Amino acid sequence: MRKTGFMHYASQRALFLQHVAQTSPAPLALEIESASGCWLHDVSGKKYLDLIAGIGPSVLGHRHPHVLEAVLQQTGQYWHTLVYGEYVLSPQVKLAERLASVLPGLDSVFFVNSGAEATEGAMKLAKRATGRPHFVACRNAYHGSTQGAASLMSPDDFTRAFHPLLPGVFHINFNETAGPELIDDRVAAVIVETVQGEAGVIPPDTGWLQALRRRCSETGALLILDEIQAGMGRTGTLFAFEQYGIVPDILLLAKGLGGGMPLGAFIAPKSLMQLLTHDPVLGHITTFGGHPVSAAAGLATLEVLLDTDLVSLVKRKGDLFRNQLNHPEIREIRQAGLWLGVDVGSFERVQKIIAHCLHEGVVTDWFLFNNHTLRIAPPLIISEEEISLACSVINAAKA
Ligand code: PLP
Repeated sequence: MRKTGFMHYASQRALFLQHVAQTSPAPLALEIESASGCWLHDVSGKKYLDLIAGIGPSVLGHRHPHVLEAVLQQTGQYWHTLVYGEYVLSPQVKLAERLASVLPGLDSVFFVNSGAEATEGAMKLAKRATGRPHFVACRNAYHGSTQGAASLMSPDDFTRAFHPLLPGVFHINFNETAGPELIDDRVAAVIVETVQGEAGVIPPDTGWLQALRRRCSETGALLILDEIQAGMGRTGTLFAFEQYGIVPDILLLAKGLGGGMPLGAFIAPKSLMQLLTHDPVLGHITTFGGHPVSAAAGLATLEVLLDTDLVSLVKRKGDLFRNQLNHPEIREIRQAGLWLGVDVGSFERVQKIIAHCLHEGVVTDWFLFNNHTLRIAPPLIISEEEISLACSVINAAKA
């Protein structure tokens, strides 16, 4: 029995490497058989505590019962019916209405499939609204891998091979007071992650973010806040910007928005969004955006986040991690709710800790722009016992 299991594992892995296009020479390559709550189970019967929530989407863990029920119900009614924006689809309508009810003034939701698509849509909306050519973005920010979103990336290590990308993108440093003067009347939008994620969890200085907001309003540039990772309760409020006394012109959501199903959105006031309906008509369209099954999953996810105490417990759970992590190599822990960047000083150490954790059945990761920092961003449903278990495994790593 065991032998069969191993042979199955070996052959599936080989086929994965051969036929499923790879993004790096070193995929994690766990062969997942099932997933539930905060746990992943592989084909050998080993279980793993998921400390990274699939890099964001699994805010309610894997196959949350309320989300599962909504998905099953929707799959029993209808799936794809027509391209986005034509038919009245109840899961989309209800999700958009519920989002609008908790977002100040942002009452029109354009549904897409992913984070990168949300970025692309927002960039086009900003150009259409302002008629301006430029964008200002932050260094070490990640907004997606499609060409418009990738144009926003600096440094260009991940994008140089794909040049030329969009011209007219200027960069400022997150949290640095020098920079906002770059925002002038040629700038269509300033795009910022409310909390920088792939830089290794960097919360904003309130004064800096507010100054950015003011400068945008003065110059007529739109402020786009990317909460694709920071949104949906991760930082302790449903949306991170709620903690900083500002409101964006356009908000980007994805990842946790679909509760594990593919869903993204850019959200703006109706007066702004309606520009996409004319000059040109159909200037921004998508076939699958807001897929009914994903929208049903998104609505169920939002209901759980709004109707339970999960989000209010986020900070306490994040603090539990912070207080119990005591690995001797820790240099700094940065935190935004249940999202921690644990700096251990080198990539080599991060790799050793990740390998140790995997061996012990705990999944962690590093960050795209910060490879000496360990990523901890578990499902928000994680229990205190699971947090203690995770910390004891990390603390015991030889690095
Ligand atoms: N924006 C942020 C802040 C992200 O973290 C990501 C993905 O990691 C994206 C955008 C892109 O999202 P997606 O991978 O769904 O295209």
